[in-house]
Order: sequence, then C-alpha cells, then structure tokens
Amino acid sequence: MDKKKVVVALGGNALGKNLPEQMKAVTEAVKPIADLIEEGHEVVISHGNGPQVGMISEAMMLLTRSNPEKYVPCPLSVCTAMSQGYIGYDLQNMLREELANRGITMDVASCLTQVEVDPNDPAFDNPTKPIGAFLTKEEADSLVESRGYTVVEDAGRGYRRVVASPKPKAIVEINTIKALSDTGHVVIAAGGGGIPVFHTEKNHLKGAAAVIDKDFASELLAELLDADYLIILTAVEKAAINFGKPDQKWLDDLSVDEAKKYIDEGQFAKGSMLPKVEAAVKFASSKPGRVALITLLEKAKDGINGKTGTRIHA
Ligand code: ADP
Ligand code: MG
Repeated sequence: MDKKKVVVALGGNALGKNLPEQMKAVTEAVKPIADLIEEGHEVVISHGNGPQVGMISEAMMLLTRSNPEKYVPCPLSVCTAMSQGYIGYDLQNMLREELANRGITMDVASCLTQVEVDPNDPAFDNPTKPIGAFLTKEEADSLVESRGYTVVEDAGRGYRRVVASPKPKAIVEINTIKALSDTGHVVIAAGGGGIPVFHTEKNHLKGAAAVIDKDFASELLAELLDADYLIILTAVEKAAINFGKPDQKWLDDLSVDEAKKYIDEGQFAKGSMLPKVEAAVKFASSKPGRVALITLLEKAKDGINGKTGTRIHA
C-alpha cells in the first residue's frame, strides 16, 4: 500500500506494570511498529502511562511520608513528565535496536510533551480518575486541607486522590514534533496523554493536576500532524457490540455514523473502549480520507493492510 503518515497509540498492556516487565513488554511492542516503518510509513508514537504514573506518584507520596518536613508532595504534572521520560527511554532504545537489527538506521527520540487544557473544562468540576497510593483518613484530610486535593473513599480500601480528565486543547511542542518527523526521525510524543498545562498570563504555562486520556491526546496529535491514519493498539483485536455477551459481534468496518449510533447505545465501556471509539470518530470526521483503526498490538501491520481490526472512516 502507499506510504502513509501514521500516529500509533500504544495501550498500557504494551508497557507492562513495572520496570522489568516494561523492558520485556517493550521489546515485543516495538516489533509491530518497526514493521510499519520497514513498510515505509512515517510513524509517530504515543503511549499510555496509567500504571507508571500511579507508581511514580505512590513513590513520591512514600517519600513525603518518610519526612514531611523535607519533602512536599510531587505535583502530578511532574509525575507525568517522569513517566514520559522513563517510558520513552525504553521505547526509543528498543525501537532503535529493533530497526538496527533489520538494517534500518534511524534516530528515535522522545519529546517531553505538554498538552494545554482549559481551566473551564467541565471535567474540573467533577474529578473522577483515582491516582496514586491509598491514604489513611488523616493523610487524606491533611492533603485536602493543605493542597486542595479532591479525595474519595475507595470501596472500603482507604482514601484516594481523584483528578480531572479534561480534553486536550493544544500540543505545546507540536512544531518540534513535526520538525523531527518531517526530517525522517521517529518521534515518541504525548506520552500518557501529555503533561497537562494551563496557559496563564503572558506566555507562562502552569502544570495542571489532571490526567488527559491518551486516546484523545493521540487523536489531537494525529490531526495536528495531518496524519492519514490513527492506529490505536490495545488488548483486543477489534471493538465489539454486545461485548462479553453471548451475542457479541466483532466490528470490522464502521462509518462514523454507525460508530456514533453504537456509542449512543452504550456499546463501549467508559474509560476503556469508549474513548478509543470517540477518538476514532473524531479523527475520521476531521478531514476526508482520514482513517482510524483499533486493533491488537501484534496486528498493527495486518491492520494497516486492511486484514484485521476495527476500521472507522467517514
Ligand atoms: P488500553 O490500555 O489499550 O487503553 P483499555 O483497557 O483502556 O486499554 O481498553 C481496552 C479494553 O476495552 C479491552 O481490553 C476490552 O476489555 C475493553 N472493552 C470494553 N468495551 C469493549 C467493546 N465494546 N469492545 C471491545 N473491547 C471492549
Ligand atoms: Mg485505556
């Protein structure tokens, strides 16, 4: 098929849940991406960071607990930046190595990416995403008091901080990402949905206590790069209707209108498949010819060649 510009969004299962798992998982995850590059496609990679940012924020919380005089809690935006750094570190090295093993010499670079969100986004009135360690009642009360956290009781297991999940508005480093990609480099960007920031006075950016859905951030990245394809790689080969029920039906090809109808029927679970299908619909509607694909990590090449996955188009 023709050479395409592709944004590949890697789901959490491609990264494992801890450091040794990540090293192993990423060794495999880069293979289907290398397949796309080997076929001549121009690839930009984004990825999730749920377990990773959870781990970092828990670690930073334990540090604070160990000596509250010395260590103040680490802002969530900084935790996200750290997760982009160490996930990008593994991804860029493993991909560079995989490409080199195939005789392809290419630079692979991670770009710490900030994503602007709107302080008036309704998500900030209703924080829903639990992150980090379980807290005691005393710790929770103290963080509500001292830092204005929103904390919820989580199913009898303790208290947890919840943050908002606003929609991405703009990608601060988009010109850098574009410049690298246009000159033939593979870029890893908008990891974990990007580091959420507010635009404040003049040109100042301020970290926001939020988590942006990586499916929506990847969609925005694909639009801004004028990509032909948005490929969302996850733990299922296709999206389904009546998912998990006896009359489950895998979906191969969906028009935007069909996809919207299934969204309205509640066919896709919130927080997992729904954001993917919503992102796919947004991308496929954004310009004629743009196609979104949801499939299994290992099937990326078959997917782009039309052999599998759920394909969403105008
Ligand atoms: P990722 O880490 O890749 O973002 P998620 O776990 O968030 O993955 O979302 C993918 C999961 O969504 C699948 O593994 C599947 O269990 C679940 N899912 C929910 N509804 C559906 C559906 N209608 N069709 C297919 N998968 C679904
Ligand atoms: Mg997800």
